[in-house]
Amino acid sequence: MKLELPDLPYAANALEPHMSAETLGFHHGKHHNTYVVKGNELLADAGVDADNLEDLVRESAKVGGPLFNNVAQVYNHNFFWQSMKPAGGGAPTGAIADKINADFGSYDDFKKEFTAGGVGQFGSGWVWLVLDGGKLKIAKTPNAETPLTTSAKPILVCDVWEHAYYLDYQNRRPDFLAAFLDNLVNWDFANKNLA
Ligand code: MN
Repeated sequence: MKLELPDLPYAANALEPHMSAETLGFHHGKHHNTYVVKGNELLADAGVDADNLEDLVRESAKVGGPLFNNVAQVYNHNFFWQSMKPAGGGAPTGAIADKINADFGSYDDFKKEFTAGGVGQFGSGWVWLVLDGGKLKIAKTPNAETPLTTSAKPILVCDVWEHAYYLDYQNRRPDFLAAFLDNLVNWDFANKNLA
């Protein structure tokens, strides 16, 4: 299979003012697309293949290096775009709301732990809500690392590489994480992943 750049699930300006069209345009059209193009070159060179993107990430992890980094970043970004929606964020509803209350104590406790994970990821990386051993947990991963290579199932993710927020928030990663949680999170996607 070949890696593909999916269309964004919303217009490039649909997340404004919390994420600008300029940020989304560069992030999707340049950063994400470069992972697709390089990943396809490296997959062809290495002769690595699979039937779906998740398995392609796992197969690439056996090789490691630039191959894994580019393929995993394609999966991570696909997941990130779906983790957001226009007029999203705020307290969740549905099964994910009950599960967050059960496993974190409250939505506020979840917010604190998710924010601390995102702020505490030194340098480039990702902060995830994952389901692991039947419990929701916060996971942070450096660079291109992804829960797909672990026992945990991804539920939601925020990209905390500087390219995700620098044009809009400069060095203020905590402000970006607050905007993500309060105005962008797609809880419908989280509920779908939990089901
Ligand atoms: Mn990114």
